[in-house]
Amino acid sequence: MQELNIKANLQSVMTNIPDDVDLVAVSKTHPVEMIKEAYQAGQRKFGENKAQELILKAPQLPNDIEWHFIGHLQTNKVRQIIPWVHLIHSVDSFKLLQEISKEAVKANRTIGCLLQLYIASEETKFGLDLKEAQELISLFRSDRLENIVIRGVMGMATNTDDEELIATEFKSLKGYFNVLKTEFFSEGDQFNTISMGMSSDYKLAIECGSTMVRVGSMIFGERTYL
Ligand SMILES: *Cc1c(COP(=O)(O)O)cnc(C)c1O
Repeated sequence: MQELNIKANLQSVMTNIPDDVDLVAVSKTHPVEMIKEAYQAGQRKFGENKAQELILKAPQLPNDIEWHFIGHLQTNKVRQIIPWVHLIHSVDSFKLLQEISKEAVKANRTIGCLLQLYIASEETKFGLDLKEAQELISLFRSDRLENIVIRGVMGMATNTDDEELIATEFKSLKGYFNVLKTEFFSEGDQFNTISMGMSSDYKLAIECGSTMVRVGSMIFGERTYL
């Protein structure tokens, strides 16, 4: 078996990431011991994609960790993650946003949210198109949902080796971000995050305007699903 050195992996990823781009270390499927190792190497932002897993791990780890929820989120799972989560990357319906707001108010927390936009040329991925995102923000405004800050957008490129296609998709997400920012937000609004790029494509994502990359296997090694 290959020796895993989380600290060295983290450092080598960091050398490719400019200071103004955030790194979310995607720790899904990995045990808290491995998260602790990354924490000791200085990493503070971690990403999980399952509510159950997040609420199991978070209480066992230092409370200055910033938890990012990056998976598809069902409304009936919102309540359990609200005490822990800092930024939800995967808002793909107004109903979900309403639920996040309702539970955030109850918990007296303010939760950052990204709108997940559909950019891939695959059928399987979740996400809004630009028009749906515009409608969602309009509703968010007219309904005055509380305890939510819409911080930007998230997207996942097609799972392919075709770098040109991936770059086109990343650039389209950056374009959607610009449209939404111009139409709905001003500088004081904290609408400043473009979450795109994973282990295989984070460097390309940064070239295309990413401000937040979500890197898992390059840091923690391959995942084994039981
Ligand atoms: C798992 C996951 C990642 C990280 O994937 P790696 O290829 O391991 O870097 C990033 N984003 C989302 C939404 C994920 O589910």
